Amino acid sequence: MTRVLKIWYKIFVDFSNIKFVVVGAGFFGSTVAERIAGDLGKQVLLLDRRAHIGGNSYSEVDPETGIEFHAYGSHIFHTQNESIWRYVNRFSTFNSYMHHVWTTTQGQVYPMPIHLATMNLFYKKSFSPSEAREFLALEIARDAIAQPQNLEEQAVSLIGRPLYDAFIAGYTAKQWETDPKLLPASIITRLPVRFDYDGRYFGDPYQGIPLDGYGSLFRRMLSHPLIDIQLGVDFFDIRALLPQDCLIVYTGPIDRYFNDVAGKLSWRTIDLKRDVAMVPDYQGTSVMNYADKEVPFTRIHEFRHFHPERRYQQEKTLIFREYSRFAQNGDEPYYPINQEFDKKILAAYMDLKEKEQNVYFGGRLGSYKYLDMHQAIGAALVMYEREIKPRVTGEAWVRPSSVLPVL
Ligand code: FAD
Ligand code: UDP
Repeated sequence: MTRVLKIWYKIFVDFSNIKFVVVGAGFFGSTVAERIAGDLGKQVLLLDRRAHIGGNSYSEVDPETGIEFHAYGSHIFHTQNESIWRYVNRFSTFNSYMHHVWTTTQGQVYPMPIHLATMNLFYKKSFSPSEAREFLALEIARDAIAQPQNLEEQAVSLIGRPLYDAFIAGYTAKQWETDPKLLPASIITRLPVRFDYDGRYFGDPYQGIPLDGYGSLFRRMLSHPLIDIQLGVDFFDIRALLPQDCLIVYTGPIDRYFNDVAGKLSWRTIDLKRDVAMVPDYQGTSVMNYADKEVPFTRIHEFRHFHPERRYQQEKTLIFREYSRFAQNGDEPYYPINQEFDKKILAAYMDLKEKEQNVYFGGRLGSYKYLDMHQAIGAALVMYEREIKPRVTGEAWVRPSSVLPVL
């Protein structure tokens, strides 16, 4: 923030009566702010350094094509938790979009995640589910991995080396630029492996895209008159103006909060290159992955497919090519890499965090966790119910309320 703006804030914005500040208007911060205003009935200041609410889940309509796009890459809402689904449906209805992904390798297109159709196409077979299981068990046994310790071992022990080489190795090399033996196994267990023809990317029963977009969902979520939203404001620029005793929920990067004293956590960022193709349909699906290392991007997003219920124009279509790289100073952090040295740095911040009496840390950046949207909402609801609300009401948390998910 410029010096002029800082002075403007000092003179014209009265922070002296503020009791609750939420830093970051992504799903975590927005959920906490909504609960403080809507459930506790207290005034809350919600800050974001960006010019919009919604964090990385934000969407808006592209003026050239009229197509709603997800500004930070495709975002599909999915959960198996009924209470999180009910909570988010308070702010939007969802369409019936089910996410299916395709992947291209060596000039051939296959369905992703790996399931019976992928296996049969790849091996040019017509395996039944049990035949595929038997076949793959032999492939997996070749590597004799007893206890998978990292991404590569985990993947090979789930699908065998040939499928790993074709669909995972190249994509992962581009996505992480890190030896897959140094990456956590949990990254790959995000993807299911199925021995039937269920090709859904996510197996969750509740799934969809907000009918009028994530931007509208967030506007409704944050429409309570007790929520004061200040955009384009970096918390660290106004922190000194806040009262000492106000309660802060911080969803920015945890290392930045502590001035990187224990070191910088490593992140991957992405570059999204926008293009308009003069065809009604560029790739026939919302997300096409590119598994080969030689193709510089990881995937192409075509946003019209997220809203089959809308009547978009047919002359052109909006696509984003996604390129992945290490985040440097000033880049948006997207994916926590979480190598061993990151875990040590994080542990040091976890200790420092305990000493902060009036600050709660949460969300993807504040917890350094690869959270999906439903997990960010779930974690925020839990923090609100178990920590923030009891602190204000003086009543200890005893049992889940109607909105508290069982996580
Ligand atoms: P964020 O959305 O990152 O919000 C944090 C906010 O804090 C940001 O707006 C930031 O500007 C603000 N902030 C940070 N520091 C400061 C500061 N100092 N002062 C003021 N403001 C600050 N999840 C799914 O469920 N489905 C998907 O399909 C999916 N696809 C994804 C695709 C990509 C490419 C990525 C990167 C993520 C995807 N996710 C998906 C995950 C999803 O984006 C996160 O779950 C969600 O954004 C987490 O919300 P959050 O509030 O924790 O963080
Ligand atoms: N992955 C892969 N090939 C694919 C899709 C995913 O190798 O076609 C690996 C890759 O390492 C990726 C991880 O699986 O980081 C998790 O995939 P997911 O689709 O969950 O990643 P995201 O959508 O969060 O970028």
